[in-house]
Amino acid sequence: MPEKIQFNAEMIKRYDTSGPRYTSYPTAIAFTEKFTEDDYIQHAKNSNDDLIPSPLSLYFHIPFCDTVCFYCACNKIVTKDYSKADVYLKYLYKEIEMQAALYDRDRRVEQLHFGGGTPTFLSDAQIEGLMEKIRRHFNLYLTDDGDYSIEIDPRSVNAKTISVLRDVGFNRFSLGVQDVNDKVQKAVNRIQPIEETKAIIDACRDNDARSISIDLIYGLPFQTVESFNQTLDEIIKLSPDRISVFNYAHLPNRFKPQRRINAEDLPTSEEKLEILQLSVEKLIDHGYVYIGMDHFAKPDDELALAQENGKLHRNFQGYTTHSDCDLIAMGVSSISSVAGCYSQNTKNSDDYYKAISAGHFPVVKGLTLDDDDLIRRRIIQQLACHFSLDFEVFETSYGFKFTDVFARELEMLQPMVADKLLAIDDDRIQVSSSGRFLIRNICMVFDVGLRKKDVKERFSKVI
Ligand code: SF4
Repeated sequence: MPEKIQFNAEMIKRYDTSGPRYTSYPTAIAFTEKFTEDDYIQHAKNSNDDLIPSPLSLYFHIPFCDTVCFYCACNKIVTKDYSKADVYLKYLYKEIEMQAALYDRDRRVEQLHFGGGTPTFLSDAQIEGLMEKIRRHFNLYLTDDGDYSIEIDPRSVNAKTISVLRDVGFNRFSLGVQDVNDKVQKAVNRIQPIEETKAIIDACRDNDARSISIDLIYGLPFQTVESFNQTLDEIIKLSPDRISVFNYAHLPNRFKPQRRINAEDLPTSEEKLEILQLSVEKLIDHGYVYIGMDHFAKPDDELALAQENGKLHRNFQGYTTHSDCDLIAMGVSSISSVAGCYSQNTKNSDDYYKAISAGHFPVVKGLTLDDDDLIRRRIIQQLACHFSLDFEVFETSYGFKFTDVFARELEMLQPMVADKLLAIDDDRIQVSSSGRFLIRNICMVFDVGLRKKDVKERFSKVI
């Protein structure tokens, strides 16, 4: 059983800084336009040549939303013109054909995810058509053994849609909720009665969903400790398998919708910290395990079990039990991670349509990882997922002495050792229960990209 985390508000305040969430390493700011379509094609082809090629993880970005949530920092297209989805799907189908042609057909799709935007902006028939297209070109499970998940906006679906989603193969459902308080919902332009959310969760359960997760956000306008306590009560009653509690970063200069949120309506940083403390303590008291970086899961959930067994990983979809997959991401702005490279599609839908029409992959930037990147990625993954790092594992894999090669980083960790956030002995780094909430700060020590001037500020606050 993982150690219960100790929430130390004073310490968290002291270490409050900006930093990456490490869904990739190196992070997206290291991607360069020197990485081209040809590089991606070469990496994709190489990935088939491994003795045992990795299974696949597929991601599909559906960028449309029919209303805008004012806190939104996602890549999306806000429209009520549903015909735009037909146009988008036409090009997405073409990308599916082009991508599938690069990979051996027998490579199993272990994981599949629809994200957005709002994937359920698509009609039931469009989702059925898209899944059929994917099945025609990739080797999806015919049984329920894959991890096939979709982000759901409870405002845009009904019980029938959930049964369609289940029939076409989705078994994990992720619901955006954020906050159940009326005043907060109004201030962020996301009116979503709790009854609506409950009805969709009931439908997921009636259809034997393998897991249900709920996203919450703290730091939204008019939130107070009391109001968020009520939100947590309502969510805990719904008993989702996984709960994420994300921090709202108010950056109106970067994200246009956020300009419609009044800064003076936001909770102060002290209040935010209290809300966070309340969330952590309450969820743990109600039996949830703290997985790391905003995520909680029931102890029998596969994420918690994978963490316990040393098999948890992290990718662009957050924590995952699938370590060894090559991730092929399709649609605007999506990022693939294949055989030691990252490759990002254009964020602009017109450019996406133009590239695909011309028979090109819409790659605009990416990165080929060198040996140092690969080793540091493994270190950061290990710390972020398991809160400990065994030097011998690295020494056996790479043939170097960890304490020599990373002497500088071990030195940089010393102030955190003094603050009892972690311990370092001859064999390992062990993050303490109070250090778990500052795992991003600990990982940042191994991130050479952050050593450049002003880079850190480009990320959100770690808490
Ligand atoms: S938060 Fe999600 S649903 Fe809301 S506008 Fe952004 S992408 Fe769309």
